Amino acid sequence: MCDNADSYFPYKSFRRGQREFIKVLCESLKRKGITLVEAPNGMGKTSGVLTVISYLAEKGMRFLYLVRTHRQIDRVIEECRRFEELRLAAVRGKKELCRNPKAKRLSNYISFITKCNELRKTGACPYYEASKSHPVFERCYDPLRARSDTCPYYEALESIKEGRYHALVLSYTYLLDPEVRAHIKEILKEGVSLIVDEAHNLKRYWLAHLMRKVDLNELRSLFDVMCCDRGRELITSFLRSNLEYLELPKDYALRIFSGCDPPDYTPWEARVLYLNLREEVLISWKILLTREELIITRRPEETLEDILRRYHSSILVSGTWGGEEACKGEFLSRVRYVSIPLEKWGEIEVLITRDFTTRFEERRKTEYYRLATVLADLSKKIVGNMGVFTASYDILAGLLEVGFQYLLEKPLFIEERGADVRRNLKMVERYKELSREGAILLGVQGGRNSEGEDFPGLQMTTSVVIGLQLSKPGVERELIHLLWNRHSALRNPDLIYGCRSAFQAAARPVRSPDDLGFIVLADRRFESCLKMMPSWMRRKVRLVSLEDIPSLADEFFSARSHLFQAGRIGATYGANDHLLHS
Ligand code: SF4
Repeated sequence: MCDNADSYFPYKSFRRGQREFIKVLCESLKRKGITLVEAPNGMGKTSGVLTVISYLAEKGMRFLYLVRTHRQIDRVIEECRRFEELRLAAVRGKKELCRNPKAKRLSNYISFITKCNELRKTGACPYYEASKSHPVFERCYDPLRARSDTCPYYEALESIKEGRYHALVLSYTYLLDPEVRAHIKEILKEGVSLIVDEAHNLKRYWLAHLMRKVDLNELRSLFDVMCCDRGRELITSFLRSNLEYLELPKDYALRIFSGCDPPDYTPWEARVLYLNLREEVLISWKILLTREELIITRRPEETLEDILRRYHSSILVSGTWGGEEACKGEFLSRVRYVSIPLEKWGEIEVLITRDFTTRFEERRKTEYYRLATVLADLSKKIVGNMGVFTASYDILAGLLEVGFQYLLEKPLFIEERGADVRRNLKMVERYKELSREGAILLGVQGGRNSEGEDFPGLQMTTSVVIGLQLSKPGVERELIHLLWNRHSALRNPDLIYGCRSAFQAAARPVRSPDDLGFIVLADRRFESCLKMMPSWMRRKVRLVSLEDIPSLADEFFSARSHLFQAGRIGATYGANDHLLHS
């Protein structure tokens, strides 16, 4: 039934596995229910998805295409232009698009939303007023290009209401956003199908949205400003105690949030935050006061499975589901699993260190120094750029504390925690430009650069993944496990998610069958991830000593010097001279 879908593909040739992906996707979209598709990153999934959408849109189907980052939305819009008949619109974040400085300047998201609502209700946002009367239609519509006198966010929502688009592309955080959902309700009635890319984080994201965390210092300041004596006393006596955490009964928490007497001059933002927290307490399931934060957890109004089943069909795609057992275990209802395994994908070598770990109990300065020295040596042996992805910002800081940056002869780019998207983008562009000379990117697993960003050719030939990302022991982890137990059948979600984040980061250099990938998994605990490793990676795994890595890299790149000389690697990006002319 999907045999003709290929004819909507706008390129001359298919990538390896791409044709199969198109067929699997098309057939899954035609049947009802939830399907999990495992397919390697870099096989051209975006153009594959748009091919299927173009084909099925002609038969009357409509789609929501959810991606993880704003960069991926850019890519989908660019790709859309190659599909002549496709009509696709992007929906982006409200704060990102806001043009009114009265709202945009507010750093707290709740305050921002409240201010925006207030401005709209009172007719005080001229951008909103202008966007109401200007629904636009462009075949590949991106609100970033909206007219300067309108609110791009509301212009986009007005424009999609008309139902002229075959598909909407948006970040998957909006799957749970009630405002966006209300606006797309009209088209949802017609039986829209859902395609989610990089869906391996979806369940974790859904669970995280059930928890609201407030930093304890912030909460104390709020109680001060709002003159909440009971709240202040609670925090003071809790911090004086030896307790690791305190579970607050809901009635008690409500009394704390009710017994405040804010003076008239209390700042507007503090009132908004306070009222919002009180509402959260009202619908809470568990409230925990820890030594770092207040955690308010609520019961979900509907499960993720309920949300996914609202669509005609839901297809969740990822390159790192970790096999049938791991991904099916996440869902409590019946789901289908289809895999497109590729035994060979890129020229790779995968090393796991048998004598190094970042286990909390074994972290020492000497071990950081040992690691920093090996990484510095490794950077001298490789061709092209190197990416180093740590399990946490603590480990990243540990490397810098022992002077990693001073041991390097190549430029080092460090991912900043919470850095603005554009600032990070600039840094990554500069890093990619240096692939001829070689540069090092230091970031964290699960961060902006270790998932969703591609580094083909020489832009990254070596990835080093340091440490397995497991949550810290403590009450928060117990709470998260409690949520997992209620909403999934997974026995060890921590390990599964840790392995997935690591494989996402590890796979950054290999974005096509021709890419080179010298992959180091620096933690002996990665042996427990072997079962979940993508098949193309698993076929090349070796256990080695940390100190052996630089010489193994030397062998790996020297054995492939003919590829550089023939221009098969890095033809577009330049290459290091010593191998080109050796
Ligand atoms: S309507 Fe748009 S421009 Fe106006 S405050 Fe809200 S988001 Fe900002």
